[in-house]
Amino acid sequence: MRTLLIDQIGMLVTNDPQGPAPPTGRDEWALGVRTDAAIVVEGGRIAWLGPAGTAPAADQRHDAGGGTVLPGFVDSHAHLVFAGDRSAEFAARMAGQPYAAGGIRSTVTATRAASDDQLRAVAAGLVAELVRSGTTTFEIKSGYGLTVADEQRACRIAAEFTDEVTLLGAHVVPAEYAADRTGYLDLLTGPMFDACQPYARWVDVFCDRGAFDAVETHVLLEQAATAGMGLRVHANQLGPGPGVALAVAHGAASADHCTHLSDTDVGVLADSSTVATLLPGAEFGTRSTYPDARRLLDAGATVALATDCNPGTSFTTSMPLCIALAVREMRMTVAEALGAATVGGARALRRDDVGRITVGGSADLVALAAPSYVHLAYRPGVDLISAVWWAGQRARPGPGGHGAGLERDHG
Ligand SMILES: [Zn+2]
Repeated sequence: MRTLLIDQIGMLVTNDPQGPAPPTGRDEWALGVRTDAAIVVEGGRIAWLGPAGTAPAADQRHDAGGGTVLPGFVDSHAHLVFAGDRSAEFAARMAGQPYAAGGIRSTVTATRAASDDQLRAVAAGLVAELVRSGTTTFEIKSGYGLTVADEQRACRIAAEFTDEVTLLGAHVVPAEYAADRTGYLDLLTGPMFDACQPYARWVDVFCDRGAFDAVETHVLLEQAATAGMGLRVHANQLGPGPGVALAVAHGAASADHCTHLSDTDVGVLADSSTVATLLPGAEFGTRSTYPDARRLLDAGATVALATDCNPGTSFTTSMPLCIALAVREMRMTVAEALGAATVGGARALRRDDVGRITVGGSADLVALAAPSYVHLAYRPGVDLISAVWWAGQRARPGPGGHGAGLERDHG
């Protein structure tokens, strides 16, 4: 098995802190930063990590040029299986129209009309974007089919790209069930769960005005848990509401958005294992007030950052953009934002095998042409990523076509 040495690393972020936590600067300590380090990759895993001068010989070498190496980003919230274009809706919103959840239905119409290959091509293109921008673990939700066959198709296509597939049949009630919401809930928790469970690990519910109310969300989460599926909730995005409390009460892995929180919501999140996943791309794309990450962090909640990539409200695949927004608009330190975009996302997916650089762990790595991770927020909108390795495979640098495009390092 061929080995790869990555050396000349000016700064290595491991998310594996060494020694006791300092009284101040804990967020930076938590990143487990090392200087003058090297890494050896073998068989998709980190085989060795230590001071550059003591690195073992390897078959191939990558010179990081004094730049920064990070764990690959973990994007725990993305909607990548859809058809159609909503750029006109975005332009109208920027011209003053407010966002409402009903815009989802226009994507539902286009998605139902698309072929499998058309949906697969959209997802593949977005996955290629994600990987080029440094994301190596990502979740994909369904939610633009809203029939048993269309939701199953979306979950099946999503499963071609990731193990983290989420059934979001509870995105909105489709138009044909507008007068029979109970009928749609029965369809969702019966035949739709059965059809999608072979592909989906998670069930998500959009609990907000225009989507699903408290009683409906409670029933959906209870039924999903009974079916043995993990839980996620779109909560408190459009206004205050019961989403966060329900997510925590049902032991959901994450409550996502968390834009409008009461003190009680913040308290129950801090006392729970439910991760508060913040999605600043959605506030950016809807010109809305950002969630206050500082309030959650100071209370002791676990925070993740994700893109919420979707055609309606947050059409970005860029975790570096989300980090910059979190720092500038949500009062996170750069260290906290990077931690939330890596190990925080891993926690939101209940994964402990990604989001860190440790010996024996998956070689999911990002190299930056910058001397510090701080440049991710300090240089917003600038593509600093010089290399990405996904399970030890080099992802194609620079713009490419559809498909993640893997290539080997050269000796
Ligand atoms: Zn979403």
